[in-house]
Amino acid sequence: MAKQFDAIIIGTGQAGPNLARHLAAAGRKVAIVERKLFGGTCVNTGCIPTKTMVASAYAAHIARRAADFGVNVDGNVKVDMARVKARKDAISADSRIGLENSLKKTENITVFEGHARFESSREVSVGQERITAEQIFINVGARAAVPNMPGLDQIKYLNNSSMMEVDFLPKKLIVVGGSYIGLEFGQMFRRFGSEVTIIEMGPRLISREDADVSDAIREIMEHEGITIRLKAECIGFSKKGEDIVAQVNCEEPVPEISGTHVLLAVGRRPNTDDLGLDKAGVAVDARGNIVVDDQLRTSVPGIWAVGDCNGKGGFTHTSWNDSEIVIGNLLQNDQRRVSDRIPAYALYVDPPLGRAGMTEDQVRKTGRAAMVGKRPMTKVGRAVEKGETQGFMKIVVDAKTREVLGAAILGVGGDEVIHSILDVMYAKAPYTVIERAMHIHPTVSELVPTMLGDLQPLAG
Ligand SMILES: Cc1cc2nc3c(=O)[nH]c(=O)nc-3n(C[C@H](O)[C@H](O)[C@H](O)COP(=O)(O)OP(=O)(O)OC[C@H]3O[C@@H](n4cnc5c(N)ncnc54)[C@H](O)[C@@H]3O)c2cc1C
Repeated sequence: MAKQFDAIIIGTGQAGPNLARHLAAAGRKVAIVERKLFGGTCVNTGCIPTKTMVASAYAAHIARRAADFGVNVDGNVKVDMARVKARKDAISADSRIGLENSLKKTENITVFEGHARFESSREVSVGQERITAEQIFINVGARAAVPNMPGLDQIKYLNNSSMMEVDFLPKKLIVVGGSYIGLEFGQMFRRFGSEVTIIEMGPRLISREDADVSDAIREIMEHEGITIRLKAECIGFSKKGEDIVAQVNCEEPVPEISGTHVLLAVGRRPNTDDLGLDKAGVAVDARGNIVVDDQLRTSVPGIWAVGDCNGKGGFTHTSWNDSEIVIGNLLQNDQRRVSDRIPAYALYVDPPLGRAGMTEDQVRKTGRAAMVGKRPMTKVGRAVEKGETQGFMKIVVDAKTREVLGAAILGVGGDEVIHSILDVMYAKAPYTVIERAMHIHPTVSELVPTMLGDLQPLAG
């Protein structure tokens, strides 16, 4: 006999637990299923552990630069990887255990541990158990993609999950993929002391950003001694003694890179392939993402898909926002939509990149009249005082409406400063609001009005 609930939530990533709490508080009987680690990717193998490790890497970096600040550090800076990992594990575990306990203690929530699969559009199996509900929410997330590269089956490789177990220093780390995950791990391990090569198939790093952003990030990486190989169109692997050899180009002579460890950071694929979606009749697209509408409803009435598995976001905040959209529509008579949100994210290399809205290139493609402002961090007092002057800030505004269309802050505090622009974008206020506001000195944010005071027409 199947156990009956009002709602079933599959997965305890960023959206599921928030949904569960709100539905339970509204008096619904909720079942939530987790097959592995409570909190999913962000808590266990994504944002939290990586940013914890980025903090350790930053400490090592600043310690090495201590003399720049007039501080003497005797001897070489040595990183104790076992302690880096222990710190990361403790912070991650705090979140995971806190979430697990709170779900298990919340009235109206029943936790099932095991792999969930649809048996029909209203019934889910978890091991031997069967549960049914009129409403089902899928929050199964994504996992590291494994590309089809020759020789990959001959070598041991790491991904973002297995990287979490590394408590030693890889001597020579080859990172395949020059986007968010690859760049963060690449810089952090260079700072821990590894020799790092980042291999990217495209002509530039982090290709969804403007070329000036890509180029500045490449410069930052190379300045720290990271080797960058772009246009690696023919990547393959082989073993040479204890080492792994990565081939990056098929033309002769074959340029090879030798390493002790390989990290694959070439994208993510949704966990939708072993979920019995066919039995429920839920449609997926060619990439395996669950097809949803603007309110995150799937092709089957009564089933929603939230978080990375719907292909609409790919970030913790987009998954959380998905849960708010569903809660708004189902429980609060608030017709929130995915299309209400402005793209925003950060890349946590150091200095970080904070991004909101369109890139300059995307604005250019719309053909509208626009103005652009740019300021190097060398001309930002706060950055100079901190001795962290790499990067720049850039903003694009609509020439007619004067609304902000997009911004990139690559520089110290960029992940925070971007919010002052993002909030004005949500308010649909003209950029002059930022320009006229009194900002605090000394901050990076205080130079945003100065940048806005020197806007130039965006060249076509
Ligand atoms: C290295 C790395 C760094 C990142 N850094 C950032 C960052 O700094 N900022 C940011 O915003 N985002 C970051 N992300 C992305 C972020 O982690 C994800 O976007 C976020 O976790 C969204 O997760 P979700 O809610 O879709 O599901 P997830 O967190 O992936 O959780 C899904 C859960 O569902 C469970 N599950 C799956 N299938 C089943 C099943 N059949 N039955 C039961 N349970 C199941 C899984 O075990 C998992 O616990 C990073 C990702 C990675 C890999």
